[in-house]
Amino acid sequence: MASSPSIVWLRDDLRVADNPALTAAVERGAPVVVVFLLDEQSPGVRPLGGASRWWLHGSLQSLADDLAELGGSLALRRGAAAEVIPALVAETGAGAVYWNRRYGALRDVDAALKSRLRAEGVVVESFGASLLHEPWTITSGSGGAYRVFTPFWRACLATGEPRSPLPAPASVDGLAVAGDALDEWALLPTRPDWATGLREAWTPGAEGAHARLEQFVEHGLPLYHRRDEPGIEATSRLSPHLRFGELSPHQIWARVHERLAPEAAANRAKFLSEIGWREFSYSILFHQPQLASVNVRRDFDAFPWEAPEPAVLEAWQHGRTGIPIVDAGMRQLWTSGWMHNRVRMIVASLLTKNLLVDWRIGEAWFWDTLVDADEASNAASWQWVAGSGADAAPYFRVFNPVLQADRFDPDRAYVQRWVPEVDGPEYPRPIVDLAVSRTRALAAYEAVKAAALSAG
Ligand code: FAD
Repeated sequence: MASSPSIVWLRDDLRVADNPALTAAVERGAPVVVVFLLDEQSPGVRPLGGASRWWLHGSLQSLADDLAELGGSLALRRGAAAEVIPALVAETGAGAVYWNRRYGALRDVDAALKSRLRAEGVVVESFGASLLHEPWTITSGSGGAYRVFTPFWRACLATGEPRSPLPAPASVDGLAVAGDALDEWALLPTRPDWATGLREAWTPGAEGAHARLEQFVEHGLPLYHRRDEPGIEATSRLSPHLRFGELSPHQIWARVHERLAPEAAANRAKFLSEIGWREFSYSILFHQPQLASVNVRRDFDAFPWEAPEPAVLEAWQHGRTGIPIVDAGMRQLWTSGWMHNRVRMIVASLLTKNLLVDWRIGEAWFWDTLVDADEASNAASWQWVAGSGADAAPYFRVFNPVLQADRFDPDRAYVQRWVPEVDGPEYPRPIVDLAVSRTRALAAYEAVKAAALSAG
């Protein structure tokens, strides 16, 4: 049995159950230091947006409680990983460091740290914990990344059942070290405190995540065939819990295969395929770590985006476009930190196509305001809607928000909930002519496509 302590460095995996890094440290048999870093310094770090900072506060609080119940504790440190982790190794005399993998630009930080610590004789091990399939294991016939979802997910399913989730350790022999107090990080908004709607809507932390999963399996999953209707609660709302790793996809997979009526099988398959979209986004990110800033299809670098007038951008951001379903979605986002998937597509299409605003501007707004703002899913989805993404098909798809609302919110429950003044005289006229702007967007796409064809 080892006697030098082990360090577990938690990042996007804020849970004690199904946490391979924590399990490995406990199994090593020596005292365990569990640490979370607020790292805003490492190269490639994208500072969290406001809604994510709010979530992180609650999630860390809940994690600290869960660790304390097992006999452990959570140390909070701040700074660049390349400095803080080696310093913690030196301070504690740790002989081993464990973490669960991440898949974007920060994996360079992890790889460098791993080599350096190993060269110093420290055991370093990383684990797959937040995806069902490690991105490098699912490749197309030519050995590269899949560009289209359906064959990607088919290939994932063909690999068989994912592993079973690990139980939480029975106990953690915690070694407490000094650290910051959570409040010092000032993750919560104060003046103004805009988080009332977030507090009403969400319970960050693993306990809240599991309660949400149970509620979904009971009430949402039977309605999942109506998942495109924003006016009803037919989707799981697990996205922020998955983003912060309070719940793993393995735990979700296992839970939806337990005690489910046979007639629910179609809804389950569809729901798991949405978890598959998350995996697909991570596969794209893995192959293109600069996903939030660089077009996957480089011919889009020549796209004639227009600088938005401040008033137009503000109308979109705050739900005053005069297009009811768009305004409902943007207000849902602003108030609760979340927006229904169908409506995310509609508002993103309006911004990038009807208003010809660069998808990066929309992506950044979502990054700041979503509680589930995710480095893979947010950037991949914005690029997918804009047409610059891995899958070339959606470029000619311009959502008509009026027809979308008629189809998916036919009784206007969603619009009336978020835009109560929609039928009143004060509700603004649309900021853009949908038909004219659609034609303009298609012409711009055709020009880019023609230029790419003649160049290539
Ligand atoms: P459910 O339908 O219950 O799906 C279960 C889980 O599958 C979700 O929690 C999520 O983790 C995953 N998932 C579902 N749909 C998608 C999808 N299209 N792409 C990737 N994963 C998916 N999702 C994020 O988690 N973070 C983001 O920052 C994000 N930004 C988006 C931006 C745009 C422009 C669009 C169109 C979509 C974005 N999505 C993002 C995907 C999707 O809208 C959300 O995952 C979904 O609305 C979350 O709600 P839910 O948990 O109820 O979904």
